[in-house]
Amino acid sequence: MSRRGTAVHRTGTGPVRLTARGVVRRYGGIEAVAGVDLTAPAGRVTALIGPNGAGKSTLFDCLAGTVRPDAGRVVLGGRDVTRVPAHARVRLGLARTFQQIAVFPTLTVADNVRIGAEQRRGRRPDTDAVDAATARALALFGLQGVAAQPAGDQPTGVLRLVELARALAGGPHVLLLDEPAAGLDTAQTARLVSVLRGLADRGTALLLVEHDPDLVRELADRVYVMAGGRVMARGPVAEVLDDPRVARAWGGAAAGTGRP
Ligand code: ATP
Repeated sequence: MSRRGTAVHRTGTGPVRLTARGVVRRYGGIEAVAGVDLTAPAGRVTALIGPNGAGKSTLFDCLAGTVRPDAGRVVLGGRDVTRVPAHARVRLGLARTFQQIAVFPTLTVADNVRIGAEQRRGRRPDTDAVDAATARALALFGLQGVAAQPAGDQPTGVLRLVELARALAGGPHVLLLDEPAAGLDTAQTARLVSVLRGLADRGTALLLVEHDPDLVRELADRVYVMAGGRVMARGPVAEVLDDPRVARAWGGAAAGTGRP
């Protein structure tokens, strides 16, 4: 599979990437994120790994805009978005999924995905464009058969795909994924890998927090390893994951995981 997408999302200033520069976030006396530099480039899958409590989720929240950093900057496509709220970052082309699945149970699967399509970046889209984006996203994950059913009736694996479809329906430049394969079976995981690789090959910047080393090796181009709020290693996946320092730091987290 190609790891070199030729098409990348561009704005007036070039391909859209997401960058953290010197990001710090404190909780009481703890520096959950202690000065992190990270770039998720367009057309690449970047993984963020590390043991429990390393600061991955806090950094993710700073990037998405749900948590305000105490210091440092977040830059999206050349624009400083550090003080831009999460919902406004969505309109600028930044989408995310959550570790805890967040769907509206009484809405149908299609209406959950439609919410993402209505958030399409740029100006407010018309109904036809929303319908088309919703249908495309449902088809991408093979969800047409359950489109009219309430989301609350679906098993976890399907809900994970609904969340992903909703995030993609907005046509984001940058996609943040928090453990996207949690709860998926083997077939669903294979589909997820293929969809995410396809997105990267077409120019989307993907950043995922992931505990499964197999998935990181399969999907990611580059990896950042966090421990104690800092980045302790970064680089091409094979190189970083084979580093004994990383294996020691991450070993505990990786040992108990593995896809079903
Ligand atoms: P996990 O893999 O378990 O999700 P993580 O790498 O995502 O861990 P964080 O959840 O970002 O790590 O936590 C980093 C540190 O910040 C931990 O010590 C955690 O207890 C602390 N922390 C995170 N959020 C808060 C909060 N809202 N209030 C207080 N402390 C917090």
